[in-house]
Amino acid sequence: MIQPRLSKSRFCTGLQCVRQLWWRVREPDAPELVSPPDLQAVFDRGHRIGELAQAAFPGGVLIEAEHWDVAKMCKATSAALASGTPAIFEASFSVDGLFSAIDVLERLEAGFALVEVKSTFSVKPQFIPDVAIQVHVAKAAGIDVRRAEVMHLVRDRNCAAGEERFARVDVSAEVEAFLAQVPAQIARMREALTGDLPLVEPGAHCEAPYECPFMARCHLPKGALLN
Ligand code: SF4
Repeated sequence: MIQPRLSKSRFCTGLQCVRQLWWRVREPDAPELVSPPDLQAVFDRGHRIGELAQAAFPGGVLIEAEHWDVAKMCKATSAALASGTPAIFEASFSVDGLFSAIDVLERLEAGFALVEVKSTFSVKPQFIPDVAIQVHVAKAAGIDVRRAEVMHLVRDRNCAAGEERFARVDVSAEVEAFLAQVPAQIARMREALTGDLPLVEPGAHCEAPYECPFMARCHLPKGALLN
């Protein structure tokens, strides 16, 4: 069986629950995965915030391609890196069956800073593995990542309508601490994806850090077989 590519979002899902990951990968057209209109609005806002954040990196270049065209995204990223551009938005790397598109890859005097943009008002714990898998992929692709950051919103009443203020928080130490477990987590997820639907007992992880869309499939009467 061909190994499915592990993206950042798949990695984060697998951390929460490999059973949920299995369904997301094996049943991408599952009705549970159709975004309700209110969730789509959240995605749209996140996209808009990402675009506003790019203004903080003058001279940056956006990697534009269809999200499924990984080869084109990676090729454009290589070209942007070679051109010496000060920042790359959606910098894309595919290596060892892993894929990551980085919100902002900022060129430093030495090496690069990897910046993950979030439409929240603080750094949440679940952002650390999210950033760590991106650092792992970027480093595997040969990028000299010197710093990892989360760039989030700041409440500011003086902001005009349509404008946003951001804070950049250095999370390098937290990410570095998490990086050690990334290879083992990837191996665990790959093993789960090669077999039958994994058995995972429902629990607190079904709702945190994100609510699982498959709860109706799992939350059977006590003692019932999970599949
Ligand atoms: S409901 Fe819970 S156990 Fe079932 S797939 Fe979702 S996270 Fe996993």
